[in-house]
Amino acid sequence: YDIATLKRANEQQAIKNVKNIIAISSGKGGVGKSSTAVNLALALQQEGAKVGLLDADIYGPSIPTMLGTVDQHPLTPDNQHMTPIMAYGLATNSIGYLVEQGNAMVWRGPMASKALLQMLNDTLWPELDYLVIDMPPGTGDIQLTLAQSIPVTASVIVTTPQDIALIDAQKGIAMFNKVNIPTLGIIENMSYHICENCGHHETIFGENGAQELAQQYHTSLLGQIPLHRSLRQDLDQGQPTVIKQPDSEFANLYRQVADRI
Ligand code: ADP
Ligand code: MG
Repeated sequence: YDIATLKRANEQQAIKNVKNIIAISSGKGGVGKSSTAVNLALALQQEGAKVGLLDADIYGPSIPTMLGTVDQHPLTPDNQHMTPIMAYGLATNSIGYLVEQGNAMVWRGPMASKALLQMLNDTLWPELDYLVIDMPPGTGDIQLTLAQSIPVTASVIVTTPQDIALIDAQKGIAMFNKVNIPTLGIIENMSYHICENCGHHETIFGENGAQELAQQYHTSLLGQIPLHRSLRQDLDQGQPTVIKQPDSEFANLYRQVADRI
């Protein structure tokens, strides 16, 4: 197996049934990329689109937990293709469905890239307007190879307003620029904290960082999502807020971002 062959095979080759691929990316881990990918995919669906979600975080898949589908496994009707796991109307796949929970993936980069490209190409996706991809964190070789190998329509960058996250987000935008994938914009997660008792908003990680980054890179700030306990709790219970609290201000914020996309 050689990555250059895979790259050539996949470059510009459309994925069957998939109209647009949106890569959700962040330079840094732990900024809320998966949380955003899940809620955003569901918000796009609530706005009337047909949506799939591919968990590309081979080393730390969290989509099955966040969608409450950890115990499910894709079927392989012809020993080659996989049927996606359906969750709240989303067609999904994740390495988390294929390995025992708690087992660490100790693959080297090329193996991980190959597994991801297989999930992308060999899943029997239904007709989709958008396939949202929760990209692995970082801007290293694997991410670059993937960005080149997957026919991505556009990227969305998730960051917190913290300086160290913003620096990494910058690298993310630069990486997509390098492979000529347009960046639709930036989502600032954990933008501010809402006090549960008094409703007061306070900033924790800094202010205006994502706005300034967006200006600097001539892209837009797609939305600002607060840090709130219920967002975390809903995901831990496998019922993302957009589903569990569809009328909440949080769900509205995610749908606003979906509209902008
Ligand atoms: P990443 O995919 O970038 O590594 P995650 O989406 O897994 O980050 O988020 C890291 C942790 O922070 C998760 O446990 C998630 O539940 C929590 N989290 C993310 N965004 C928020 C938010 N806006 N409010 C509260 N908790 C959040
Ligand atoms: Mg993640």
